[in-house]
Amino acid sequence: MGLSLSYRKLIVPAVLLCAGSFSALASEEAEPSKPLSGSNLLISAVAWKQTAAEYRALYYQGFNIAKLHLDNALQRHGEGDKPLAIITDADDTILSTNAYWGHLIEQDMEFFNDPIWDRWVVEAQPVATPGAKEFLDYAASKGVEIFYVTSREQGEDTFNIALNNLKGNDFPFVDAEHLTVLRETSNKETRQKEIANDFNVVLYLGDNLNDLSRSYYVTDVEERLALVDEQKSKFGFEHIIFPNPTDGHWVRAIFGESEPPASVENVNKFRDAATRHSWQAPTE
Ligand SMILES: [Mg+2]
Repeated sequence: MGLSLSYRKLIVPAVLLCAGSFSALASEEAEPSKPLSGSNLLISAVAWKQTAAEYRALYYQGFNIAKLHLDNALQRHGEGDKPLAIITDADDTILSTNAYWGHLIEQDMEFFNDPIWDRWVVEAQPVATPGAKEFLDYAASKGVEIFYVTSREQGEDTFNIALNNLKGNDFPFVDAEHLTVLRETSNKETRQKEIANDFNVVLYLGDNLNDLSRSYYVTDVEERLALVDEQKSKFGFEHIIFPNPTDGHWVRAIFGESEPPASVENVNKFRDAATRHSWQAPTE
C-alpha cells in the first residue's frame, strides 16, 4: 500500500521469489493461500474494523434506525394483521468476525480463508456486534419474532455450529424454527418468502446487499451501484445495512468470486478497483 505502480511491479515478482521464506512464517492451516508481500491487502480494512470508533458507531446507528422503524411498525400494527417479524443475517451483522480477521492478518493471509474460518466458527465464540443483543431483545420484548437466515458450510455440523454461535450470545428465538442455515447457496429468497407468507417482515438486516434482496446478486460493480441507487428509499427503513470492508459480494464484483486466491493478478485487480476514480494531475 502506498507503493507506486512501477515500484509494485518490480517488487511483487521479487517477493514471490522469496515466497518460501514467507510461507515458513505461516502455520500449517495457512497453506491454502500464501502472502504476496509485506504489505497485506487486508490490513487497512481489518485495522479499521478493529479500532475505528466510527465502525462501532455505524452499528449503533444501524440498530437505532432499525428500532425507530420497528416502533413505527408497532404503532401501525392492528389486530388481525400478520404478526411482525425481523429477518437478520448472522456474520458481520449480529456476530462480529473481527477476531477471525485479526488471526488472518497474523498469518499473513490476504483474502478470506475457508479452512481457518471453519475452525474459527467451531473453536471460537463470535461475540455480538455493538447494539445487536440489545436491539434483538427489545424486538422480542415487543412480541416481534426474529428469524436468522445465514449462509455457511462446515459440513454435517453446519446448523449446530451456527446455532451454538447464536445461543452463545443469548439472542432471542434461537431454535430450529427460527434459524435457517443455507449450506449450498447464498440465495436467501426462498426462505425469506416463506417467512413473509406468515409474517409482516418489517426489517431485513445484513452486511451484504444479498441479505436484503436477491435482486442485488449481480456480478458487475456498476450494476450493483445502480441497483442501490434504484432502491435508495429502502435504506434506513426496511433495509438496514452494516459496514463490511473485508468480504462480501462487493469482493465478488471485483474479482468474479467472493473468496479469490492471493495472486499477482488479484493484487492488480484490487488496484484497478481502488483507482476507479482517479484524479489525473495536469502535466506541466
Ligand atoms: Mg454477513
